[in-house]
Amino acid sequence: MVLHSATEILKAIASVQDPKIVITTHHKPDADAMGSSLGLKLFLESIGYDATVISPTDYASFLKWMKGDEQTIVYEHNPTHAKALTHEADFIFCLDFNHLSRINEYGDVVADSNAKKILIDHHQFPQGFEDYTFWDDTASSTCELVYRFIHANGLDHKIDKDAAACLYTGIVTDTGSFRFGSCSSETMRISASLMDKGIKHEEIFDRVYDSFTESRVRFIGYAISEKLEVLHEYNTALITITKEELKKYGVVTGDTEGLVNYGLSIEGIKFAVLIIDRTKIVKMSFRSKGDFAANVFAMQHFNGGGHFHAAGGSSFVSLEETADQFKTALKLYKGQLNG
Ligand code: 5GP
Ligand code: MN
Repeated sequence: MVLHSATEILKAIASVQDPKIVITTHHKPDADAMGSSLGLKLFLESIGYDATVISPTDYASFLKWMKGDEQTIVYEHNPTHAKALTHEADFIFCLDFNHLSRINEYGDVVADSNAKKILIDHHQFPQGFEDYTFWDDTASSTCELVYRFIHANGLDHKIDKDAAACLYTGIVTDTGSFRFGSCSSETMRISASLMDKGIKHEEIFDRVYDSFTESRVRFIGYAISEKLEVLHEYNTALITITKEELKKYGVVTGDTEGLVNYGLSIEGIKFAVLIIDRTKIVKMSFRSKGDFAANVFAMQHFNGGGHFHAAGGSSFVSLEETADQFKTALKLYKGQLNG
């Protein structure tokens, strides 16, 4: 893989007159995905470009306070408009994903566009569909990479308070509030620079973490109390959620985020999975600790991928069959999970 420099990428954009820029990110975007997309959009606007964020799907309401959010186009709600913009684009920034399958049907639209694709991402094993690659799988977050992209161009002063808030949000969430191994001293320095822009970090935390609906809190309580299964033999914790349970608790996009981590908070547990029946597919979230690679497990058994310690996948059989397949696959890793 050839990595490109931030200056080279910005020069390519500057070489086109009035470039049309689209920014997209993975389906069901999380805080890093939306924060990096909107942070980049606000930065590009500050240097005189127009950029439109297109999300393949909807996303959690606790992300909708970020500046520029109201202009975001959701592909599944407005495919005609999104297709036209993508078709006409000169550049498409692809943020926080590196496989076109991660943006669902919109992936074909992006692939068919003649626009130059610019990847900014921190996931392992990139597919290589892009023209320009700004990638580092040791980065804490895509928001950190967007900051590095701006910094390398000597344009930090163009990050205003609103863009800083977007970028800070993705760093906070993707580092588990600065606790994961991926959080480096550089991550902390970048976060400090963003704080110096005048953001209110306690308000950001409040918006993202202390804005749950009552039903979401009750759903989490129910899932932990009634649905958590601990497979001590494998130091693994499993939660399965049926479609009826999603309906009963009125679970909406974003409500299940973070649920998988409770399994991993049990002493000695090295691997946690959350398996949810999303009707058309069964969606899985994996988290691991130590030397157990969640992304390799997801890739080998459940059509997935992601990071070493945080990955996802999907299955096309029933919830029960998926859980059985998961338990069968675990047997292959007994030594590793007990070590
Ligand atoms: P989450 O469990 O929070 O949905 O996802 C954890 C991580 O794994 C995220 O970085 C996400 O981008 C990645 N991920 C989730 N689902 C999939 C998937 O189906 N395929 C791949 N390649 N990555 C995934
Ligand atoms: Mn990310």
